Amino acid sequence: MTPRIEKESFTIRQLHEKLVKKEVSAKEIAEEFLERIKREEGTLNAFITQTPELALAQAKEVDEKIASGREIPLLSGVPCAVKDSILVEGVACTAGSKILQEYIAPYDATVTRKLREQGALFVGKTNTDEFNMGSSTENSAFGVTRNPHDPERVAGGTSGGSAAAVAAGEALVALGADTGGSIRLPAAFCGVVGLKPTYGAVSRSGLIAMASSLDQIGSLAQRAQDAEDLFAVICGKDELDATSLEYEYKPLENFALKNLRVGVAKEFFGEGLMPEIAERMKAVLQKLEDAGATVQEIRLPHAKYALAAYYIISTSEVSANLARFDGIRYGKRAAKIRTLLDGYLQSRGEYLGDEVKRRIMLGTYALSAGYYEAYYLKAQKVRTLLQKDFQAAFAKVDVIMGPPSPFLPFKIGERNEDPLAMYLVDLYTVPVNLVGLPALSLPAGSVGNLPVGLQIISKPLEENLLFAVAKELENLV
Ligand code: GLN
Repeated sequence: MTPRIEKESFTIRQLHEKLVKKEVSAKEIAEEFLERIKREEGTLNAFITQTPELALAQAKEVDEKIASGREIPLLSGVPCAVKDSILVEGVACTAGSKILQEYIAPYDATVTRKLREQGALFVGKTNTDEFNMGSSTENSAFGVTRNPHDPERVAGGTSGGSAAAVAAGEALVALGADTGGSIRLPAAFCGVVGLKPTYGAVSRSGLIAMASSLDQIGSLAQRAQDAEDLFAVICGKDELDATSLEYEYKPLENFALKNLRVGVAKEFFGEGLMPEIAERMKAVLQKLEDAGATVQEIRLPHAKYALAAYYIISTSEVSANLARFDGIRYGKRAAKIRTLLDGYLQSRGEYLGDEVKRRIMLGTYALSAGYYEAYYLKAQKVRTLLQKDFQAAFAKVDVIMGPPSPFLPFKIGERNEDPLAMYLVDLYTVPVNLVGLPALSLPAGSVGNLPVGLQIISKPLEENLLFAVAKELENLV
């Protein structure tokens, strides 16, 4: 088959137009993307489960709708990959863990229900570090995802499968989830756009929880416009998630970079940042100034405590959220068990990975009587102080920019043996989750053949500003 759709040649909106004008059918689109998946997966391993039958059935419905002269929503016929910690009814959902290997999702997450109603095509479930814990997908029980720019290197994590799938053109858009950087980091490592929305902007119903006060589902795409179109569909109030917010998304009209006030935090350019990345950031900031934006230094004095606070708070929540995977309520049960305790120990012992166990233990310790005040409570106080830092900064600037990670995509195996070396990857992404702000990672050129991202942070519920800036900037860098 000669592909009628080239990776570079269309966006969601162009695809929509082609469908409506009957220049291409949803079936042809589905087949083209399924073909690409076949071609790329031998190397990349972006998917844990592929769902070609589902995508083709959804495409058929879209084609029937078009044939009968009915209007189709914008995301009809759009090939979409879904992170494997988000439920799609009737499809396996493993969260990258052996303990959920046999679990079939009994219902749709709210986000996938919304996409299904739009007529999006679900091509498969993407790889993730086990229960969303990690920064490289090396903690997945189903093998590492390779970076499409250099298969010897990681794609980033934990939504590494989603980022790689989008970067390699296996899907036009993807859903990811971000607790401490899991959308922005792989987006940066794979050279795509990734949005971590405001806490509460998107329903978490049907997302397998890691740390409930930090988790958010967001969008990934090659272009900002596509990530925005996907976000506009998935956001909003949901009665199944009490933390979700009333949110009618409206893109910003007539935005120009020239009145934008950009803040640069010294704390995001500290020791440990690779000099090549710092250089790239400088070049981007210069382009912004040339376009008329003002760039000023701001301070986030408590950002230096963010990583420590994050690893206390997130592991504490992990210890509570993962208690349900015990082989009885949820998860695979070990084969030969004699007593109840035996059942817990063996099922969890056998089917949970090392990093997950480490975090359950850390979190249980941090919450235990006598340590709670010293660790958990202190970390929560850091959160409040950090919130005040950001509020003070946003009194002076519209957005804050910096690198999403101090590192370039690293070699597979390079950091995996040392948990602390892996946690350092999250230095610049976790502050945002602690305070619930939205942030977007945008491709900002490369160092050699490796992509570099730019992190843009805004005030709560100003995703439209993030996208407006991203749409302008992606033409400049
Ligand atoms: N890398 C971070 C962690 O390991 C963030 C993970 C995430 O965002 N899910 O906790």
